[in-house]
Amino acid sequence: MATEHAERKMYIDGAWVDAHGGATMAVHDPATNAEIGHVPKGDRTDVGKAVDAAAAAFERPDWRAMDPAQRGLILRKMADLIRASADAIAQLETSNQGKPVKEAKGDVIYAAMTFDYYAGLADKIEGRTIPVPGTRLAFTVREPLGVTVHLVPWNYPFQLASRSVAPALAAGNTVIVKPASWTPLSALRLAEIGAQAGLPKGVLNVLTGPGGAVGHALVTHKAVRGVVLTGSVETGREVLRAAAERIIPVTLELGGKNPNILFADAELDKALRGIVRGAFSNAGQMCWACSRILAHESIYESVVEKLAAATAKLKIGPGADASTEMGPLVSKDHLASVVRHLEKGKAEGARLLTGGDRPADASLASGNFLRPAVVRDAAPDGYLARTEVFGPMLAVWPFKDLDDAVAKANATEFGLAAGIWTRDLKSAHDTARRLDAGIVSVNEYPITFPQTPFGGFKASGLGSEQGIDGIHFYTRLKAVTMNLR
Ligand code: NAD
Repeated sequence: MATEHAERKMYIDGAWVDAHGGATMAVHDPATNAEIGHVPKGDRTDVGKAVDAAAAAFERPDWRAMDPAQRGLILRKMADLIRASADAIAQLETSNQGKPVKEAKGDVIYAAMTFDYYAGLADKIEGRTIPVPGTRLAFTVREPLGVTVHLVPWNYPFQLASRSVAPALAAGNTVIVKPASWTPLSALRLAEIGAQAGLPKGVLNVLTGPGGAVGHALVTHKAVRGVVLTGSVETGREVLRAAAERIIPVTLELGGKNPNILFADAELDKALRGIVRGAFSNAGQMCWACSRILAHESIYESVVEKLAAATAKLKIGPGADASTEMGPLVSKDHLASVVRHLEKGKAEGARLLTGGDRPADASLASGNFLRPAVVRDAAPDGYLARTEVFGPMLAVWPFKDLDDAVAKANATEFGLAAGIWTRDLKSAHDTARRLDAGIVSVNEYPITFPQTPFGGFKASGLGSEQGIDGIHFYTRLKAVTMNLR
């Protein structure tokens, strides 16, 4: 279990350290906005130390020459340790991020599943032998990249750090995790778990500090060989520009404006339960939140009415309260940004059927609470149809037929996730094939597994994580051809 002291420092080269200049950043509980601690505010000098540590660890034989099966055993141990302290990590996540503790526990268990999955792959990163003319032998080898940087957002701090760290380690890289400034605590816990599981020093470093300064300095450091960003489109563009200067590979997991298409034959109650969960889990602060509902015109009115009724019943409260169904937004600034988005939508004629305002309960007044909103009559190509609100809001539009549904679903710059609700196999296949989305779910939403790819099309990202494909990003492919004469 982490000590209070360790939680407040960052982890570089196997040691808990302060920022070199001693600066710190406050961390808050979104349910009350009370300060719950400080973490170091790293800067360029700390970036240098972290990259030097990771680069040295990559060269040392205790990691580089380790039997990959042994690396797998360390990752398996990390999975076990995560499971063993899942309740404590979930409570820590809730205190810092705000989500209901049962959701946070789900994230933590998902992280353990991810470490388990990549533990099993560590000794299966294989090359190929390739037929070539003559008495030659040609084969490929997949080698680790070296030092990889992991820029993590604040919505799933522990789970998304684990999503990219596990395959990077399995492939033999050394890593630097940069958690979001609002939610650094659980990534520090991950560093502690790595150390307990037996990762050599310098293999997993966690550096805290502001993204614009520390994140940028990491991406532009000459010894960094690969970057994974899970974050906004705007940051994605900045990271891609910086990576272009250095010609290093980048995986970008960015935003979404995800449609759920409800056909007239859908199992309605099941679909509405899935949509409410897919829109308002994590207070809607999800890249894959189903914020755009397209309902067949024959069921549109009833869908709108039922969604508004189910949404109005959600119990809002502090994430630590076991009966809470939706917690606060992550910060005051983010709450203000969500409210601004809703106001812009309203100015274009969107009608709020429920929510979009602060709860009346005085005990919630100091936290960043917002009642979940259901919207109708927003312009089909207007602000709320195009903009990632990243908060508790869903909007509903009618569609006429499959062509109309697909055209509306694809009419944004994003292409992350999409849901289809129908009993008809043909509609399901036709629609799935025609959607511009990297992740399509049928009759369930949202759903993903560590073994299934997760990545967006169009402005939602580049590359994908999870699964066997996900580990290849963390390797470079070498072709060796030998003349045997
Ligand atoms: P963000 O882009 O502000 O920050 C993400 C991370 O990048 C943070 O650690 C931040 O400190 C760092 N960062 C910020 N500016 C940087 C820069 N110039 N250079 C390097 N690093 C920098 O995103 P956020 O607000 O933390 O998260 C919300 C966004 O993340 C939403 O758009 C959401 O859709 C997206 N997201 C995507 C996925 C996915 O898998 N596709 C998952 C979760 C969240």
